[in-house]
Amino acid sequence: MTIEDGRILEVGPATEGERLPGRALAPGFANDHSHAFQRGLRGAVERIEPSRPHDDFWTWRERMYVLAEGLTPNTVREATRRCYEEMLSAGFTSVTEFHYVHHRPDGTSYEDPNALAKAVALAAEGAGIRLLLLPVAYARGGLPRFRDTSVPSFLRRIDDLREWAEGRPLVEVGVAAHSVRAVGRAWLQELAEYAHRYDLPLHVHADEQRREIEECLSEHGVRPVELLAHTGFLGANTTIVHATHADARELDLLSERGASVCACPTTEGNLGDGFLPAAEILDRGIPLSVGSDSHVRIDPFEELREIETNARRLSGRRNVLLAESETSSTPYLLRAGWGNTGPKPGDPADLIEINLSHPVLADTEAENLPSALVFGSGSGVIVGAWVDGQNVCAPDDKGG
Ligand SMILES: [Zn+2]
Repeated sequence: MTIEDGRILEVGPATEGERLPGRALAPGFANDHSHAFQRGLRGAVERIEPSRPHDDFWTWRERMYVLAEGLTPNTVREATRRCYEEMLSAGFTSVTEFHYVHHRPDGTSYEDPNALAKAVALAAEGAGIRLLLLPVAYARGGLPRFRDTSVPSFLRRIDDLREWAEGRPLVEVGVAAHSVRAVGRAWLQELAEYAHRYDLPLHVHADEQRREIEECLSEHGVRPVELLAHTGFLGANTTIVHATHADARELDLLSERGASVCACPTTEGNLGDGFLPAAEILDRGIPLSVGSDSHVRIDPFEELREIETNARRLSGRRNVLLAESETSSTPYLLRAGWGNTGPKPGDPADLIEINLSHPVLADTEAENLPSALVFGSGSGVIVGAWVDGQNVCAPDDKGG
């Protein structure tokens, strides 16, 4: 691989340069859904409160709110930097941050209304990871500090943030709506118009919980993805996060409008959400990505493996997620993890280094390496990461 000015110039058999024995180079993985601060809950919420023996997404959410309530610009920056450093050491070279903690705990703006969003961006720059920053619109529910008073005031913040991010090569700004729970019809329309006008990535949580679908049906008479279709929210730049309980009609809508789905299997499993209709998503040609979401675990191989393994548990078959003319699910899963088909000239040089001498891989034949990575390994085999051609994680960063 030849790299110049942070871009891949050429991929193919090397004629010159240094050959590194026992190492393989691969594209870095794209972490398409993150709430960095939630990493602080890791290990802390794996027990019930005896007074409330029924624990599920909604009780977990209360504990997440307690953590969110106490955040400051400094702690956001610090927690985010640690999270992103872990991502780089695990093989993720880019992250999409779904950022919804915007204001002071009482809901009033910081002196700089984008203080917390900028804290996230500065953390990404400090760690060296590529960032798609999605300020998230939140109209109702949640904590006061999540909410903006109107769409125009929210979009003014986005305008300012986009301007601030210009000239920051690792930072791109998009936009998101939290969910159909937190954002009503009129807001969805205005957010969609704004995103489509400026050709911005547009994300939303949808169909994560059955209760969310029941509430949407009783408020709007349609299911969440149908509401998104009616409000103009779905397009080629739109990503639906979770889609766990999407039905056939909703999946058809995603396919028709060219929208994508982001699966977060380790988090969805941890929260007891359920498992997305992966085979139906593949059948309809809906692009799929993965995210480590709450960061109960940060490991791209585990996210990808979970998708196929859950599809196997549900179907009683093996190699379920086969793209046309392929005989293994590995290429499909890797494309979902990379967000593309593999390294090619012109791509940013966002790469990871794999230790082929690691005990997990030491006996693996070269032709089986991709499947051994996806089905048999973890982030421990990653020993380096490059973003924009710069080394941002070396073996020493992983404790030797
Ligand atoms: Zn999320």
